[in-house]
Amino acid sequence: MFEVKDIAEVNLADNPVLSQMGQFNHEQLVFCNDNETGLKAIIGIHNTVLGPALGGTRIWAYNNEMEALNDVLRLSRGMTYKNSLAGLNLGGGKAVIIGDSKKIKSEALMRRFGKFVNSLSGKYITAEDVGINPQDMVFVNMETDHVVGLPGKSGDPSPVTAKGVYVGMKACAKQQFGTDSLAGKKVAVQGVGHVGEYLVSFLAKEGAEIYITDVYEPTLKRVASEYGAKVVGLDEIYDIDMDIYAPCALGATVNDETLNRLKCSIIAGSANNQLKDETKHGKLVMEKGIIYAPDYAINAGGVINVYSEFKGLDPEWSLQNAENIYTTIEQIVKRSKEENIPTYKIANKIAEERIESVGKIKLPR
Ligand code: NAD
Repeated sequence: MFEVKDIAEVNLADNPVLSQMGQFNHEQLVFCNDNETGLKAIIGIHNTVLGPALGGTRIWAYNNEMEALNDVLRLSRGMTYKNSLAGLNLGGGKAVIIGDSKKIKSEALMRRFGKFVNSLSGKYITAEDVGINPQDMVFVNMETDHVVGLPGKSGDPSPVTAKGVYVGMKACAKQQFGTDSLAGKKVAVQGVGHVGEYLVSFLAKEGAEIYITDVYEPTLKRVASEYGAKVVGLDEIYDIDMDIYAPCALGATVNDETLNRLKCSIIAGSANNQLKDETKHGKLVMEKGIIYAPDYAINAGGVINVYSEFKGLDPEWSLQNAENIYTTIEQIVKRSKEENIPTYKIANKIAEERIESVGKIKLPR
């Protein structure tokens, strides 16, 4: 049985491992050690009610093992919610490898990790995350088939992610402005990298008034001239007159400082962890009358894309499926209004409700 508990409400740091697993109802943790290759990893399996636990592997120079443990618990739980809300038959998992990716990575280490993944017989499916590149996953794949996001397979997830963000933005507009047309709406896109540029292309086609910023000048200039977007400063973006703020670069940009400056009435972008403090800023955003599309709901295109690889589906399937994000966001925003509860909490509830109801299905004998 699930319970909506904010991360901030739980103090993970000083508890013994099994108590920490109990806080968020994790199913399984696998501690992996190999002295020969220097591999120290933790695979976190949060929930497999909907299907095998899918989530990327991150390599990070954690300060200590507790930090790594906290991260794998938090991230694997997040994947359960993301996969459920995206309507996929996948549970939530994640793995962390402890160390500096520039120093520890080797073919042997990645293959040893692949053997650990393989030992779980498909209960956990891995993919790329921070510190890992496609070649690393090729090494993992030498030891296990339970890996997605391989070169030459489902490919760059960004167009699918951008499609999801675009339709999710439209669903917010429908609620806020009474129409889902973005024509003439002022949209500020922070970061015009992989996702941001595709998003700008959708917005330009619809006739939105687009404002963009990026730390990388050459891309910024090119995107501005290609799509007729106006360039604004890195910090100026928080002050401009806009209808929609689309963070597509960094996390935590919705915080005490920016909330005093943002004039938008919708926040909808691809970046992960947009709210600096989910509990505090999720509530504050709602009180200000801003519709916030929960990041893990609106940016689910990436996971939809890897799911298509896992199931051997056509890439077209991913783009079509990303369109369902419209309905998901619409449902979240409507329930948030009706129940007067921040959107991020409603998103969690919907994800939990799906897991509970699917979990009750009994197979006929
Ligand atoms: P990216 O690295 O291709 O693009 C990010 C862009 O942001 C870059 O152009 C970078 O120069 C710019 N940037 C960095 N710091 C900035 C700053 N301070 N202000 C303005 N711009 C800045 O990454 P991406 O794949 O486009 O992903 C964008 C965001 O969406 C990331 O937070 C990512 O985690 C998230 N996301 C991406 C996907 C996907 O399919 N690519 C899926 C889910 C979530």
